[in-house]
Amino acid sequence: MKPVIIIGSGQAGYTVAREFRKLDKTTPMFIITADDGGFYAKPMLSNAFAQNKQPDQLVNQTALQIAVQLDAHIMTGTRATGIDTKDQLVATSAGSFAYGKLVIAVGAQPIRLAIDGDAASEVLSINHIADYAHFRSRLTGQSRVTILGAGLIGCEFADDLAGAGHAVTLVDPGPLPLSSLAAPALAQGLRHALEDRGVAMHLGTTAARIDRNTGGIRVALADGSVLETDIVLSAVRLRPDLRVAQQAGLSTNRGILIDAFGRTSAANVYALGDCAEYTLHGETRPMPYIAPLMAAARAIARALAGEHTAIELKPSPVIVKTPSFPLALLPPPPHALASGYWETSLEEERMICRFYDPREVMTGFGLAPQEATLRQELLAALGKPRISDLQNPQTLAA
Ligand SMILES: Cc1cc2nc3c(=O)[nH]c(=O)nc-3n(C[C@H](O)[C@H](O)[C@H](O)COP(=O)(O)OP(=O)(O)OC[C@H]3O[C@@H](n4cnc5c(N)ncnc54)[C@H](O)[C@@H]3O)c2cc1C
Repeated sequence: MKPVIIIGSGQAGYTVAREFRKLDKTTPMFIITADDGGFYAKPMLSNAFAQNKQPDQLVNQTALQIAVQLDAHIMTGTRATGIDTKDQLVATSAGSFAYGKLVIAVGAQPIRLAIDGDAASEVLSINHIADYAHFRSRLTGQSRVTILGAGLIGCEFADDLAGAGHAVTLVDPGPLPLSSLAAPALAQGLRHALEDRGVAMHLGTTAARIDRNTGGIRVALADGSVLETDIVLSAVRLRPDLRVAQQAGLSTNRGILIDAFGRTSAANVYALGDCAEYTLHGETRPMPYIAPLMAAARAIARALAGEHTAIELKPSPVIVKTPSFPLALLPPPPHALASGYWETSLEEERMICRFYDPREVMTGFGLAPQEATLRQELLAALGKPRISDLQNPQTLAA
């Protein structure tokens, strides 16, 4: 019997493997991974410095433990280099393997910023536990960290590193941190909370040059300011890793295109996680978060076991792990931003921002401090018309 082969041992690859084994105990399963195959929850990486977690404390299971538990053959340190979709073969750094069904879960790659300067190549990024380990070793004895990008991950690292006692500077071209995800009132709240924590903000600008300087690194910003720092961390967005998919001739856009069932353009080949571009309401977009990959893993596992079911992509708020100002965000669809409006209210010491489209239907929200019951209430109100102002007397701004 030809095996199921999964490329990648991140949360996407391993969740498919676990879900598949619940349904099928006998089909051989190979997991091919470029790393050591240890399982860890990646979201922990931006919350681990303040807790002084060593990398091995974040690993829940080794590849060997998972191989035994799932009765799988896990090939660690092995890179997939190509796929022959006609003869159903995966080429790897350790030879070629035939598959019955194949799952691509190779994740994303950090975007390398085009910045001048003799230290530009020393900019670090953290998208893997090995990057976390490397960053920690570089951090030893250094105190000043400059983070490029004040999105979700940049803000989380800023709060975490400041909590661990580092002097953190956050640089972002937007007017506020999290400006593409959060309502302005919440973004402003986060800015104040991070500044109170000691994080310096340089907003509305970018790094123009990064050069070595006596005893450290000098970052020249486009607005003329100059930062002296020890380490530069890039937290700008990631790019889906398309290398294997493009070599195989699969349809790609920003990510590997998958249909509502998780299928790629080639028969018996599926994709999910940060490398994929999901289909939702007739549109496609990457969804580099845990909730979509869990939903996709459940559907793809059923497909591997012979039953095609659609991926149930439910709206799921992003929890921003900034202890100084914990947030839950469900951003409105990007195309709706120009035509709708945010409404902010204070309810029992919580700031709630609701986004209404021109039909007065709520299509997004944000909440601080984030809290499960209210989050559920807001989720239940999603897609419904607004509550009248009479029921909501503390409305601050329209
Ligand atoms: C710091 C940080 C914090 C985050 N916090 C949150 C959060 O709070 N909530 C949330 O929802 N999301 C969060 N995310 C996003 C979330 O962690 C990712 O969406 C998710 O982990 C992606 O999993 P993946 O398996 O698709 O990719 P990855 O974890 O990148 O796994 C890819 C796997 O493929 C392997 N691989 C790559 N290329 C090859 C190849 N050619 N051959 C063989 N193997 C290969 C790699 O070695 C790896 O094992 C965070 C991300 C980061 C970086």
